[in-house]
Amino acid sequence: MTQSFYPPQRTLMGPGPPDVSPRVLGALSRPTIGHLDPQFILLMDEIKALLQYAFKTSNELTLPVSAPGSAGMEAVFTNLLEPGDKVVVCQNGVFGGRMKENVERCGATAVMVQDDWGKPVDPQKLEQALRANPDATAVAFVHAETSTGVRSDARHLCRLAHEFDCLAIVDAVTSLAGIELRVDDWGIDAIYSGTQKCLSCVPGLSPVSFSERAVARIRQRKQRVQSWFLDMNLIMDYWGGDAKRSYHHTAPVNALYALHESLVMLQEEGLESAWARHQRHHDAFAAGIEAMGLGFVVDVGARLPQLNAVRIPAGVDEAFVRKQLLQNWNLEIGAGLGSLAGKVWRVGLMGYAANRTNVLLCLSALGTTLQTMGAAVTPDAAITAAQEVYAA
Ligand SMILES: *Cc1c(COP(=O)(O)O)cnc(C)c1O
Repeated sequence: MTQSFYPPQRTLMGPGPPDVSPRVLGALSRPTIGHLDPQFILLMDEIKALLQYAFKTSNELTLPVSAPGSAGMEAVFTNLLEPGDKVVVCQNGVFGGRMKENVERCGATAVMVQDDWGKPVDPQKLEQALRANPDATAVAFVHAETSTGVRSDARHLCRLAHEFDCLAIVDAVTSLAGIELRVDDWGIDAIYSGTQKCLSCVPGLSPVSFSERAVARIRQRKQRVQSWFLDMNLIMDYWGGDAKRSYHHTAPVNALYALHESLVMLQEEGLESAWARHQRHHDAFAAGIEAMGLGFVVDVGARLPQLNAVRIPAGVDEAFVRKQLLQNWNLEIGAGLGSLAGKVWRVGLMGYAANRTNVLLCLSALGTTLQTMGAAVTPDAAITAAQEVYAA
């Protein structure tokens, strides 16, 4: 007989999912109710309001798509694009490449603006591309590139998009609740995120939000949205407006309890405090990494606090290190992706996992493991340096 599955107790410091709070796991196991139960409708309304808080938006069309971040990405592109449209896509890592995939699968053309991996999107290059392509209808970029740990200047890029009369489409899967993000102030027209990064909820949902301009674009489509499941016109009838609430698909009831709980926790902490907490633990972690003689891929000013791409010292078998951390410390960190594969570890400090215990654990685990393997690192110096940041 196959036995019940009991996962090991890990500390999750990879690129997501991070550790999930016991409060969120507790919410997940509450009794399932019907997805059209009046109590559930109230929960949906609260989730919408809490997501508006997290996104800093008053957009009416703000809701979680019932599938992971990649589905939020599909929802944004399939609803906003029609065959023949032209979109300027900024790429500086893996996830910008997925935007290109989505644009092309919608029958639209992607004009690529390429930047080196580990560098932010260059606004000057975007401006040149927009001048050269006056028929473009949208600009798309990744706010927080999880493959490299770099932050782009979303406010500036959105301003450029609007100057050229384009919609601004933003991937905020890793940025939401981890770094400053202001949907309304920055003029973001369509944004998608995930529950399993800095919201520290279980994987499987994708919060999205659309501005009035974006909703108008969806309403004025010439062709129906190719995807029935992700068609916002239909989803709006379930999540949206007043009495309607017509059945579209069965909402993932318990996953939404979990999302609600994680958003309640975010509101209790305060969004700005959550941003500051991520920065503080990153500062301590970075001080430790540098004190033990390791380095970062991304320049200080553009580093994401929640995703640390740490350079692997020469001659070190990076997969062996990750295996040691998992076996001996129950600690998961991430490998490099794409062109950074084999060159970096990706250490996440996301949501509930962004805390002092995890920072010190990771520095000790990484430092002592590397030392045992003969690398010239100094774990004690790392702990001291991190503690000094916390003491300051
Ligand atoms: C994780 C991630 C995604 C995809 O989210 P999934 O939930 O894995 O589908 C998209 N974009 C970025 C920047 C991400 O970090």
